[in-house]
Amino acid sequence: MSFQRPQIFRPPSEARSYFLPLTQGCSNNSCSFCRYNGAQLHVRDVEEIKEEIDALDLYLREGVCLPHIHPVVYQVASHLTTKRVFLQDGDALVYPYPKLVEVLQYLNVKFPWLEKIAAYATPQDLLRRSVEELKVLKELKLDIVYVGPESGDDEVLKHVNKGVTHDEIVEGTRRAKEAGISLSVTVLLGLGGVTGSERHAHETARILTEIDPEYAGALTLTLVHGTPLYEESCQGKFELISPLQSLNELKTIIENADFTNCFFSSMHASNYLAVRGVLPQDRNRMLGQLSHVLKTEDESLLRPEFMREL
Ligand code: SF4
Repeated sequence: MSFQRPQIFRPPSEARSYFLPLTQGCSNNSCSFCRYNGAQLHVRDVEEIKEEIDALDLYLREGVCLPHIHPVVYQVASHLTTKRVFLQDGDALVYPYPKLVEVLQYLNVKFPWLEKIAAYATPQDLLRRSVEELKVLKELKLDIVYVGPESGDDEVLKHVNKGVTHDEIVEGTRRAKEAGISLSVTVLLGLGGVTGSERHAHETARILTEIDPEYAGALTLTLVHGTPLYEESCQGKFELISPLQSLNELKTIIENADFTNCFFSSMHASNYLAVRGVLPQDRNRMLGQLSHVLKTEDESLLRPEFMREL
C-alpha cells in the first residue's frame, strides 16, 4: 500500500513549522485512551521523503509547484514563517535510525538555514537509542522531542496499556536530556479515573520532578469513541473525574513537582482552566488561580464542555 499522508496533529508550538511525514500512525498503538489505538504504523520510503524535500526546496527558491507532489506540501510551505521542521507522525522517532540520520542530513544539506527539527517520541523510541545515537540526531538539529508519559503512576500506566513503566520513562527521557535534546512532556489529568485520581496526581508530580523537562503541559482526558477506555467507561468500569477534580489534580501536580526551570501550561483546549507560568517562580500565582476556582466552585469560570477539544 502506498504511503498515506497523515492528518496534521502537532504541538501548538509547532504551528508554523513545516510538517514532514516520516511515518503514519504510532508504533505503540496500544494505549487504551488514544485515537491511535489499534492503528497500524506505516513507514514512509526514504526516497519519497527526499523527493518531498527536493520539491519543497524548489518551491521555496523559485515558487515552482510540481503536479505530482501532494498539494499539502505547498499549502504548508506557503504559511512557513519559521525555520523549523516538525517530523510527523505519532512517534516519528521510531523511523529506522540509519534512515532517520539520512533524512536529517538531507534536510541540513538542502536547508542550511534550518534552525530546529522536532518530533513526537515515545519513551520506547528513546530507550531504543543510545545517548551517542541521540547526540548524532542533536547535531543534525533535532532540537526537541515531545513525549507523553501521561502519568507517573505504574498502576495507571499498566491499566491504559502504555507499555512502559515509570522508571523506563525516566530513563528514556534522561537519555534525550544527556544528548542535549530539549524535552516537552505532557501528562493527562483524569487518567486514573475517580478512584486513582489522588495517586495519579502525586505520582505524576514525582515523575515530572525526575524528568525535570524544559516544558511540561497538562491535558485533560477526553474519552474517544471506540477506544477501549471509552468502552470501559460505558460498562461502568472507569469513572471520569469531574471538572473540579481535574483542577485538584492540576493543583497537586503544580504543588509537588519540583522543577529547575520549566514552562508549565494547561492552555490546551481539553482543559477546564488555563494556567501557565515558569516553575518554580510562578508557582504561588498559578496555585492562587486554581485555589480561587476550587474554593468558590464557580463552574462558570471553567471552559464549557462544548468548547473543549481533544
Ligand atoms: S504512545 Fe502516544 S500516540 Fe501512541 S498510542 Fe500511546 S498515547 Fe497514542
